[in-house]
Amino acid sequence: MAQVKYKVKKGDQVQVMAGKDTGKTGRVLKIKRDSGRVLVEGLNMVKKARKPRAQGEKGAIVEIEAPIDISNVQVLCKKCGPTRVGIKVDGDSKVRICRKCGETL
Ligand SMILES: [Zn+2]
Repeated sequence: MAQVKYKVKKGDQVQVMAGKDTGKTGRVLKIKRDSGRVLVEGLNMVKKARKPRAQGEKGAIVEIEAPIDISNVQVLCKKCGPTRVGIKVDGDSKVRICRKCGETL
């Protein structure tokens, strides 16, 4: 069976399974397919110094999302929480399902 490489999609609610934000949940903002990482809204924040854009303006410290390894997040099922995603072939289309309860994700 063909393996779908990344089962997480932009806009998914996911839970972080490892690292400093373990257990926290958020919405996927971006998938970085080349590096196998995701950006999750409000999670894995890092501080970055922003340089002043105009003369006389002060630089600022801003917090931005740092990428999280895709293997460290799990999609949240409405019924059972973080789960592994399965793929069900339904006619010509593939749907993502919860591996635990079979619910369409
Ligand atoms: Zn489920």
